[in-house]
This record gives sequence, C-alpha cells and structure tokens, in this order.
Amino acid sequence: MSNGMPEVKTPIFAANWKMNSGPTESRAFMRTFLARYARRPDRTVMFFPPALSLAAVRDSLKERADILVGVQNIHWEAKGAFTGENSAPIAKDAGATHALVGHSERRHVFGETDEQTAKKVAAAIGAGLFPMLCVGEKLDERERGETERVCVRQLRAGLSTLSNAQVATVIIAYEPVWAIGTGRTATPADASAVHVAIRAELRSIAGEHGGRLPILYGGSVNAQNVRALLDAEGVDGVLVGGASLDAEGWATIVRS
Ligand code: PEP
Repeated sequence: MSNGMPEVKTPIFAANWKMNSGPTESRAFMRTFLARYARRPDRTVMFFPPALSLAAVRDSLKERADILVGVQNIHWEAKGAFTGENSAPIAKDAGATHALVGHSERRHVFGETDEQTAKKVAAAIGAGLFPMLCVGEKLDERERGETERVCVRQLRAGLSTLSNAQVATVIIAYEPVWAIGTGRTATPADASAVHVAIRAELRSIAGEHGGRLPILYGGSVNAQNVRALLDAEGVDGVLVGGASLDAEGWATIVRS
C-alpha cells in the first residue's frame, strides 16, 4: 500500500449492483460467492453494492481483505443539508475504499454534469477514497464519430482538479452508453481502440502517471465475452452490472 491505496492488481473485476440486492440478499450472495472464489494474487475483485448494503458486504468479507468494496455515488460536499445523499467521508467511514463517479446512469438518468463529476472526484480523493471515473459515448455520438471527443471531454473534466500524483490514484472505466444493460457489447477491437485513445489522453493529462492508470471496459460483459475483452489491447479489467448479480455467474467471470 502507498498513500493508503489498497493494492490493486490487474485485471480488475468490478461488480456494479446498481439498485439491486438489499443486505439480506447481499449476505446470501457473498456466502455463495466466497465459497467459489478463493483469493488470487493475480487479479482484484471489487463490489459496488447499494449504499445500504455496503455494511452487509463488508461484514461478509471478514478476513478477505483481497476483495474491495466501494459506493456507486457520492455527493461532493462532506456534510450538510443534502437529504438522501451520501458523502465521501461517510462512505469511507462505512468501509468503502472506492467510489464510482460519473456512471452513465448518473450522467444520463440523473443529469449529472462534467463539472459535478469533477467535484465528486476531488471530494473522493480529499476523503481518502479512490475514484473510478466512468466515461463513454451515447449511440448517436458514436454514430456521428464523436466517441473519442466525448471520452476526452469527460476525462479532462473529471480529472481537472487533480495533481498528476492524484491522477495516478484514479481508475478509469470506459462504458459506451449504448452497451450498458442492452446486451450489445463493444467488440474487443472497438473497446481496444477507445482504450488506446484514452491512455494516450491520460498521458497527455498527467504524463507517466496518467499512462499507468487501469482502464476497465464496461457494457454487457458476461461469462461468454469476458475473456476476449480482457485479451484486447489496453483493457485492464471489466466493470459489470447485470452479470454480477448472480453469485455463481460472477464467480465464473472473476475466475476467467
Ligand atoms: C454497469 O452498470 O456499469 C454496466 C456495465 O452494466 P451492464 O454490465 O449490465 O451492461
């Protein structure tokens, strides 16, 4: 560990449960999952459960410090009159190490702006949480040939308040919006092309610090397509929604 940063080995297998699985279901999931996934030093597994299930997931992990837990969203303020929100210090106190920021559902369902993602990234780092910044284009943007432009804009905005050393603590997830929850996955070649462009941009933002960030792919990843995506150049892991909700299926994916 350095700067309190948990050791993260690639490939990273990150589960985003979205608004699924309360504490009871989460405990049952972890019992099944832990029986099927023995600690492996060559990869990192992370869970992003709903905030109310975080304690259940953490408690279930007991001595499995190899598995990390994060929150799906944070507010940029540390505390105050923001009914319904959770802050980075609260998430950290509850046992989270990571926070998703700028997930496409936050951007496109809840109207989160680039400016807000920047404030959330800064808030996470300020509280000692490690952000996983999600970027990705919508279908019409892809069809207009704007994929790279959109991802670069979201990256530049999201990382805009950070020093190069702080950028080095971020994980990036490339999640084309048209592939999330749709069953339509980017081909390994398409994913790779964007990952390579993102890495080049990260280098230009933060030099060698930027060049080393893990870049995950997300969007309808499942047990059938995960290996080919992980083998694609520039893909350092996967962020998985729907296919992470079944404990046996998720264990199969993380053992890929
Ligand atoms: C996600 O929620 O980040 C995601 C990639 O969802 P899905 O795997 O269901 O497409």
